Amino acid sequence: MYTPRTMRRPLIIALAALVCVLLASVAVAQTPPDPVQPGGPWASPDQTLSLEAFSSYEELTDQLTKIDRQSDAVEVESAGVTGQGRDIWLAKIGDPSKTPVLIITQQHGDEPHGTEAALSIIKKLSNNSRDARTILDELYVLVVPRVNPDGSTIPERGNLDFSAPERDSRSCFDTAGNVIPSRLDQGRGVFTTDIDLSDGTVAWSYDINRYHWPEWSDSWQIRCNPGLGGVHFDPDQNPVPEAVAVLETYETYQPIWVIDVHNQGISAVVEDPAGDDANRPNRRVTSSVLWPTNDDVNEQSRDLSKQLALAMKLRSLELGYSEMTRYVGGDFPGIARNAYGLLGNERIAAGETVAGGSVLVEISGQTEGGPSTNIGQKSIGKLVNEARSILWAALDGTADGSLFDLDPERAEELILVNDVDIDNPRVE
Ligand SMILES: [Zn+2]
Repeated sequence: MYTPRTMRRPLIIALAALVCVLLASVAVAQTPPDPVQPGGPWASPDQTLSLEAFSSYEELTDQLTKIDRQSDAVEVESAGVTGQGRDIWLAKIGDPSKTPVLIITQQHGDEPHGTEAALSIIKKLSNNSRDARTILDELYVLVVPRVNPDGSTIPERGNLDFSAPERDSRSCFDTAGNVIPSRLDQGRGVFTTDIDLSDGTVAWSYDINRYHWPEWSDSWQIRCNPGLGGVHFDPDQNPVPEAVAVLETYETYQPIWVIDVHNQGISAVVEDPAGDDANRPNRRVTSSVLWPTNDDVNEQSRDLSKQLALAMKLRSLELGYSEMTRYVGGDFPGIARNAYGLLGNERIAAGETVAGGSVLVEISGQTEGGPSTNIGQKSIGKLVNEARSILWAALDGTADGSLFDLDPERAEELILVNDVDIDNPRVE
């Protein structure tokens, strides 16, 4: 039978679809149940891990420029310039007379989920919707959506300032000869991270998230390395422009809290000793949070940080697929999480009641490291959505005041410590 040409195509498509369905069902029938638990999906060792879903620097710049042009609520400016000459964008949203809060993401260039979440929040706040007005009636929202634009171009953890010294893990002594107590890997405070260059050599560049010292001359980097001198040990100048940009933003706007979004490796939820059914053992962790753990952070700022973490955990429970745990992190004062808590001390002492909130958010999965820690592009949508949802919960709770009614101790109970890393079972 002759079929008019125009009708052939749908028929061919229908036949092709049928073949696909048949093939798929054969494939399903032949594939045993996924042995890859907990969670999934995992990247296969030979999978090409696409980063196309993440915005390049040019795309990020274009989007921010467009939002700035279209929205009266959003102003985008450069908070600083990187070693390679890129602007570190700061989006300022709403009325500067309202309560300021600060979100920063992608200090580590290979940790991009937070940037997409931050971009989406900037967009959502820019459109004069009811949701946006609810937040902006109360808050002045500051966002640095990509602290490390240079590192993001590879992507790579460090800031690609290859003049940086090699990492130094020897112990650090104070002037009296006492060891400054620290986690072993915090050593002398020279925090650089290595990268293999194409010519086979190894280069070192700065780990931005160890350089948030408000008083640079007091930093371990300077105190532990007396007499070294040069641009990398100059007591008058922090050598990491990206950290300086965030510190100056903080200094200028005095946000009541800072949330810093990263990516982490893969781990599984542990058994809950309290039997809280909010946590589901053995499932793969999708995110982790942590408040300041440096002992010198005042209690009010630490409690505010725990309230923020709890608001995010409670929102994560509504997502269904999320498993949020407590990140295991140290007390090093130059890490943003501790530094912005410590900066609350003076403000609280001066009579502010709400200041120094600081939370680290870790979204599971990285773009560096290959399939062992990288879960590929399969979960990008879910993970970005989780980051966006929990950041929005922090904004929401702060704007409507419900945050301040949360019991900080509940954060300790509900957000379980998690240190069970798991490897991708598909990688030998
Ligand atoms: Zn990180």
